[in-house]
Amino acid sequence: MGDERSEHMPIHAEQDHCPLCRSRHTILYFEDRNRRYRQCLDCLLVFVPRCFWLSRSEEKATYDLHQNEPHDEGYRHFLSRLSNPLLAQLPPQQRGLDFGCGPGPTLSSMLEEHGHRIDLYDPFYFNDPSVFDKKYDFICATEVVEHLHDPDREFTSLFEMLKRGGWLAIMTKLVIDRQAFSRWHYIRDLTHICFYSRETFAYLARRFNAQHTFAADDVILLQKH
Ligand SMILES: [Zn+2]
Repeated sequence: MGDERSEHMPIHAEQDHCPLCRSRHTILYFEDRNRRYRQCLDCLLVFVPRCFWLSRSEEKATYDLHQNEPHDEGYRHFLSRLSNPLLAQLPPQQRGLDFGCGPGPTLSSMLEEHGHRIDLYDPFYFNDPSVFDKKYDFICATEVVEHLHDPDREFTSLFEMLKRGGWLAIMTKLVIDRQAFSRWHYIRDLTHICFYSRETFAYLARRFNAQHTFAADDVILLQKH
Protein backbone atom coordinates (compact mmCIF):
# COMPACT_ATOMS: atom_id res chain seq x y z
CA MET A 1 0.00 0.00 0.00
CA GLY A 2 2.09 2.88 -1.28
CA ASP A 3 5.17 1.70 0.55
CA GLU A 4 7.41 1.53 -2.49
CA ARG A 5 10.73 1.74 -0.72
CA SER A 6 10.23 -1.14 1.66
CA GLU A 7 9.25 -3.40 -1.22
CA HIS A 8 12.66 -2.81 -2.76
CA MET A 9 14.51 -3.49 0.47
CA PRO A 10 15.72 -6.96 1.38
CA ILE A 11 12.96 -8.76 3.25
CA HIS A 12 14.90 -8.83 6.53
CA ALA A 13 15.85 -5.13 6.44
CA GLU A 14 12.78 -3.79 8.17
CA GLN A 15 10.53 -5.66 10.52
CA ASP A 16 7.09 -5.49 8.94
CA HIS A 17 4.97 -7.73 11.17
CA CYS A 18 3.04 -6.33 14.10
CA PRO A 19 4.88 -6.86 17.41
CA LEU A 20 1.56 -7.06 19.28
CA CYS A 21 -0.77 -9.29 17.23
CA ARG A 22 1.90 -10.66 14.83
CA SER A 23 -0.20 -9.74 11.79
CA ARG A 24 1.66 -9.13 8.54
CA HIS A 25 -0.99 -6.66 7.39
CA THR A 26 1.01 -3.53 8.14
CA ILE A 27 1.56 -0.30 6.19
CA LEU A 28 3.98 2.57 6.35
CA TYR A 29 2.09 5.10 8.51
CA PHE A 30 4.53 7.99 8.85
CA GLU A 31 8.19 8.85 8.46
CA ASP A 32 10.28 11.62 10.02
CA ARG A 33 13.95 12.39 9.88
CA ASN A 34 14.76 9.84 12.58
CA ARG A 35 12.48 6.90 12.01
CA ARG A 36 9.71 5.14 10.15
CA TYR A 37 6.44 4.14 11.75
CA ARG A 38 4.26 1.27 10.57
CA GLN A 39 0.63 0.63 11.46
CA CYS A 40 -0.97 -2.76 11.88
CA LEU A 41 -4.25 -2.96 9.98
CA ASP A 42 -5.58 -5.61 12.38
CA CYS A 43 -4.96 -4.14 15.88
CA LEU A 44 -4.06 -0.56 14.75
CA LEU A 45 -0.85 -0.48 16.78
CA VAL A 46 1.65 1.98 15.29
CA PHE A 47 5.19 0.67 15.81
CA VAL A 48 8.77 1.59 15.04
CA PRO A 49 10.61 -1.25 13.27
CA ARG A 50 13.55 -2.62 15.22
CA CYS A 51 16.22 -1.22 12.87
CA PHE A 52 15.33 2.29 14.16
CA TRP A 53 15.53 1.50 17.88
CA LEU A 54 18.10 2.98 20.25
CA SER A 55 20.62 0.59 21.77
CA ARG A 56 19.94 -0.54 25.36
CA SER A 57 22.62 1.82 26.70
CA GLU A 58 21.28 4.80 24.72
CA GLU A 59 17.81 3.91 26.00
CA LYS A 60 19.02 3.78 29.63
CA ALA A 61 20.84 7.13 29.22
CA THR A 62 17.55 8.72 28.08
CA TYR A 63 15.65 7.27 31.09
CA ASP A 64 18.33 8.56 33.46
CA LEU A 65 17.56 12.09 32.22
CA HIS A 66 13.87 11.70 33.09
CA GLN A 67 14.17 11.05 36.81
CA ASN A 68 11.05 12.10 38.67
CA GLU A 69 11.16 12.99 42.35
CA PRO A 70 8.74 11.00 44.53
CA HIS A 71 7.63 14.13 46.38
CA ASP A 72 7.22 16.35 43.34
CA GLU A 73 3.60 17.56 43.65
CA GLY A 74 3.24 18.13 39.92
CA TYR A 75 4.27 14.57 39.19
CA ARG A 76 1.95 13.19 41.87
CA HIS A 77 -0.91 15.16 40.32
CA PHE A 78 -0.03 13.71 36.90
CA LEU A 79 -0.10 10.16 38.33
CA SER A 80 -3.34 10.77 40.25
CA ARG A 81 -5.22 10.69 36.94
CA LEU A 82 -4.44 6.96 36.98
CA SER A 83 -4.41 6.26 40.72
CA ASN A 84 -7.77 7.92 41.48
CA PRO A 85 -9.90 5.88 39.08
CA LEU A 86 -7.94 2.73 40.01
CA LEU A 87 -8.34 3.30 43.77
CA ALA A 88 -12.09 3.77 43.20
CA GLN A 89 -12.25 0.16 41.93
CA LEU A 90 -10.03 -1.56 44.52
CA PRO A 91 -11.21 -3.27 47.71
CA PRO A 92 -9.00 -2.54 50.76
CA GLN A 93 -5.51 -4.02 51.20
CA GLN A 94 -4.89 -5.29 47.69
CA ARG A 95 -1.60 -6.52 46.35
CA GLY A 96 -0.22 -4.67 43.35
CA LEU A 97 2.74 -4.32 41.03
CA ASP A 98 4.16 -1.10 39.64
CA PHE A 99 5.50 -2.45 36.35
CA GLY A 100 8.16 -0.21 34.81
CA CYS A 101 8.29 2.01 37.88
CA GLY A 102 11.48 3.82 36.85
CA PRO A 103 14.25 4.99 39.19
CA GLY A 104 12.16 6.97 41.69
CA PRO A 105 8.93 5.08 42.44
CA THR A 106 6.17 7.56 43.18
CA LEU A 107 2.94 5.81 42.22
CA SER A 108 3.70 2.95 44.63
CA SER A 109 3.99 5.42 47.55
CA MET A 110 0.67 7.01 46.56
CA LEU A 111 -1.08 3.61 46.50
CA GLU A 112 0.59 2.44 49.71
CA GLU A 113 -0.79 5.53 51.44
CA HIS A 114 -4.21 3.92 50.77
CA GLY A 115 -3.25 0.63 52.43
CA HIS A 116 -2.25 -1.45 49.40
CA ARG A 117 1.00 -3.40 49.13
CA ILE A 118 3.06 -2.76 46.02
CA ASP A 119 5.96 -4.63 44.44
CA LEU A 120 8.26 -2.80 42.07
CA TYR A 121 9.61 -3.97 38.75
CA ASP A 122 11.71 -2.12 36.23
CA PRO A 123 14.13 -3.75 33.78
CA PHE A 124 16.71 -1.00 34.39
CA TYR A 125 16.21 0.09 38.00
CA PHE A 126 14.40 -2.71 39.91
CA ASN A 127 15.17 -5.83 37.94
CA ASP A 128 13.57 -8.42 40.24
CA PRO A 129 12.33 -11.27 38.04
CA SER A 130 10.61 -12.96 41.01
CA VAL A 131 7.59 -10.71 40.38
CA PHE A 132 6.80 -12.79 37.29
CA ASP A 133 6.02 -15.80 39.50
CA LYS A 134 3.50 -13.89 41.64
CA LYS A 135 -0.19 -13.10 41.21
CA TYR A 136 -1.52 -9.61 41.67
CA ASP A 137 -4.87 -7.93 42.32
CA PHE A 138 -3.73 -5.02 40.17
CA ILE A 139 -0.83 -3.95 37.99
CA CYS A 140 0.01 -0.38 37.01
CA ALA A 141 2.02 0.58 33.95
CA THR A 142 2.38 4.35 33.68
CA GLU A 143 4.26 5.66 30.66
CA VAL A 144 5.57 2.14 30.04
CA VAL A 145 3.72 0.37 27.23
CA GLU A 146 5.03 2.80 24.60
CA HIS A 147 8.54 1.48 25.41
CA LEU A 148 7.84 -2.26 25.09
CA HIS A 149 10.14 -4.19 22.76
CA ASP A 150 7.87 -7.24 22.59
CA PRO A 151 4.32 -6.14 23.50
CA ASP A 152 2.90 -9.54 22.48
CA ARG A 153 5.00 -11.36 25.09
CA GLU A 154 4.86 -8.58 27.69
CA PHE A 155 1.06 -8.14 27.67
CA THR A 156 0.72 -11.94 27.82
CA SER A 157 2.83 -12.08 30.98
CA LEU A 158 1.05 -9.09 32.56
CA PHE A 159 -2.34 -10.75 32.12
CA GLU A 160 -0.93 -14.06 33.44
CA MET A 161 0.26 -12.24 36.60
CA LEU A 162 -3.21 -10.77 37.19
CA LYS A 163 -5.73 -12.63 39.31
CA ARG A 164 -9.23 -13.10 37.89
CA GLY A 165 -11.12 -9.88 38.49
CA GLY A 166 -7.79 -8.02 38.74
CA TRP A 167 -7.08 -4.67 37.16
CA LEU A 168 -4.42 -3.56 34.69
CA ALA A 169 -4.13 0.24 34.79
CA ILE A 170 -2.24 1.82 31.90
CA MET A 171 -1.21 5.37 31.15
CA THR A 172 -0.03 6.09 27.60
CA LYS A 173 -0.92 8.75 25.02
CA LEU A 174 -3.13 7.50 22.20
CA VAL A 175 -2.89 7.78 18.43
CA ILE A 176 -5.69 9.93 16.98
CA ASP A 177 -4.94 10.13 13.25
CA ARG A 178 -2.05 10.58 10.84
CA GLN A 179 -2.22 14.38 10.80
CA ALA A 180 -2.09 14.65 14.59
CA PHE A 181 0.64 11.99 14.63
CA SER A 182 2.86 14.06 12.32
CA ARG A 183 2.87 16.94 14.82
CA TRP A 184 2.98 14.82 17.96
CA HIS A 185 5.67 15.54 20.60
CA TYR A 186 5.25 11.95 21.82
CA ILE A 187 7.03 10.49 18.79
CA ARG A 188 10.07 12.75 19.27
CA ASP A 189 11.13 10.64 22.28
CA LEU A 190 13.24 7.95 20.60
CA THR A 191 12.53 5.47 23.43
CA HIS A 192 8.85 5.46 22.36
CA ILE A 193 8.40 2.62 19.89
CA CYS A 194 4.73 1.52 20.29
CA PHE A 195 1.74 3.82 19.91
CA TYR A 196 -1.74 2.56 20.72
CA SER A 197 -5.19 3.55 19.49
CA ARG A 198 -8.48 3.11 21.32
CA GLU A 199 -9.06 0.15 18.98
CA THR A 200 -5.77 -1.43 20.09
CA PHE A 201 -7.12 -1.56 23.64
CA ALA A 202 -10.36 -3.10 22.37
CA TYR A 203 -8.18 -5.75 20.69
CA LEU A 204 -6.26 -6.37 23.96
CA ALA A 205 -9.51 -6.67 25.90
CA ARG A 206 -10.89 -9.26 23.44
CA ARG A 207 -7.65 -11.21 23.34
CA PHE A 208 -7.15 -11.41 27.10
CA ASN A 209 -10.82 -11.74 28.07
CA ALA A 210 -10.96 -8.41 29.85
CA GLN A 211 -13.24 -5.41 29.96
CA HIS A 212 -11.71 -2.04 29.15
CA THR A 213 -12.70 1.50 30.05
CA PHE A 214 -11.04 4.84 29.33
CA ALA A 215 -10.72 6.78 32.59
CA ALA A 216 -9.08 9.73 30.79
CA ASP A 217 -7.70 10.40 27.30
CA ASP A 218 -4.50 8.57 28.25
CA VAL A 219 -5.66 6.30 31.09
CA ILE A 220 -7.06 2.86 30.37
CA LEU A 221 -8.32 0.33 32.93
CA LEU A 222 -8.66 -3.32 31.94
CA GLN A 223 -10.37 -5.79 34.26
CA LYS A 224 -9.57 -9.44 33.68
CA HIS A 225 -12.68 -11.69 33.75
ZN1 LIG B 1 -1.37 -5.85 15.21
